[in-house]
Amino acid sequence: MTLRRKFILALVGMVVFMAVIAGGISLFSFNKLLDRSVSYIQQGLATQWEIALISYYEKNGSWEGVQSQIQTMLHDPDSKGSPPRGNLRIWIFDTAYKATAGAEPEIGKSIADIPNGAEIRSKLVPLQVNSQTIGYFFLEDNFLTRSDFFSRTLVSSIMRAMLISMFVTLLVALLLGIILTRRMTEPLKQLTQAVTSVGQGQLSIRINPEEKGGGDIKALTEAFNEMTVKLAQYEEIRSNMVADIAHELRTPLTVISGKLESIQEGVAAASPETILPIQDEVIRMTRLVRDLQQLTLAEAGKLPLYIQEIDIRNMILRILDHFAIALEEKNLRIEITGESLPVYGDPDRLTQVFVNLIDNAIRHSREGGFLRINFKLEFRDKNDTEEKRLSIGITDSGEGIPETDLSRVFDRFYRVDTARDRNSGGTGLGLAIAREFIRAHGGDLTVSSRLSEGCCFTVWLRVKNNINS
Ligand code: ATP
Ligand code: MG
Repeated sequence: MTLRRKFILALVGMVVFMAVIAGGISLFSFNKLLDRSVSYIQQGLATQWEIALISYYEKNGSWEGVQSQIQTMLHDPDSKGSPPRGNLRIWIFDTAYKATAGAEPEIGKSIADIPNGAEIRSKLVPLQVNSQTIGYFFLEDNFLTRSDFFSRTLVSSIMRAMLISMFVTLLVALLLGIILTRRMTEPLKQLTQAVTSVGQGQLSIRINPEEKGGGDIKALTEAFNEMTVKLAQYEEIRSNMVADIAHELRTPLTVISGKLESIQEGVAAASPETILPIQDEVIRMTRLVRDLQQLTLAEAGKLPLYIQEIDIRNMILRILDHFAIALEEKNLRIEITGESLPVYGDPDRLTQVFVNLIDNAIRHSREGGFLRINFKLEFRDKNDTEEKRLSIGITDSGEGIPETDLSRVFDRFYRVDTARDRNSGGTGLGLAIAREFIRAHGGDLTVSSRLSEGCCFTVWLRVKNNINS
């Protein structure tokens, strides 16, 4: 069932429900009101009969002939000023409680001998002239009953009015429902079409939120637009990545197939010298695959970390030892400044980060330059708590990175000098992996540079073990 139909049905259901409730309440109150009116009318009637009977007694001096007078009063439609007529049963008793008017067979009988006499006696109203009792009367209260035409007419007219108003309200509700749902579902229809188009791969689709009214629908269209922008970005990243990987694999594959072809054709011998470049390219491809795997894991937040306390200064000294030959070849001066503190992290992952940073620094440094490692303890306000961080700055004396490239050096496969950096053996994934690894440790990696003077990569690591917090 469509949203529109559901809404209209709900509206109609609500109107019917409200009409039933309102009808029930008004019928109940009407019944109460009717009961009260009946008893008021009854009282008024009794008073009128009392006055009429007293004046009859005053005129005649006795109750003689009162029975026929009552009959006349009851049946004469022109009798002006007389009590109201109706299906009344009136009893009149003299001072000795003898029936002088009432049911024909009982006239002349004492009240005790009349059926229901005791009950009638308890309800008798004394008739008095000059404070002297002249008799008693009793009005049987069967004048207005609920089954009377009077009450039936009232009930049916109220019911009719209620049915008409329910019908009118239903019509209005239906009309309103149709107009409102059209306004509400129209943008939803467009959204559905847009979502279908996105599903078919049209990621450039956008909806103008201004045109679609305010509130929830506007928020929904905005969220949809944001989603399509993100999807388009991811799609671009994905296609770029596939192109980059294909590009990265093309060179080693060309080298390998060229070498193998020349061996096959007998142009070159399968000697260790011919096989070595093939092996190099295989190693390069293996590294590329490993790097990509690690980067994907880190980006997805699924990188397994084996956290322990690490003396980062020692770790860096060991890495520098490892690069001793390269340092010596370039005649680089090592400067280590500042105080280090133990940090918590995965030693293998952090080693990989610093190997890449130091390798980059050495590779890009000019001969006879320097490589400075600076440790610094920093405090940072984070969520009202002070966080202790160790910053490790690695400054080189190389050509630096141009301002325009600074923001992109952490992108996968990005190399400032494409031809040269590729030939030097780099995959262009080192910094992307380094930043993801450091972020997985709850830290950060940034870069600053001065062209032709060198650049500085700074790693921030938490001193306390709260990596997973
Ligand atoms: P990989 O590290 O994967 O073997 P790579 O070193 O080329 O390859 P990254 O470490 O990600 O890749 O570095 C990306 C690019 O940033 C480098 O190609 C280089 O152009 C530039 N770069 C990195 N470090 C420096 C540096 N210290 N001085 C100048 N340029 C640098
Ligand atoms: Mg590198």
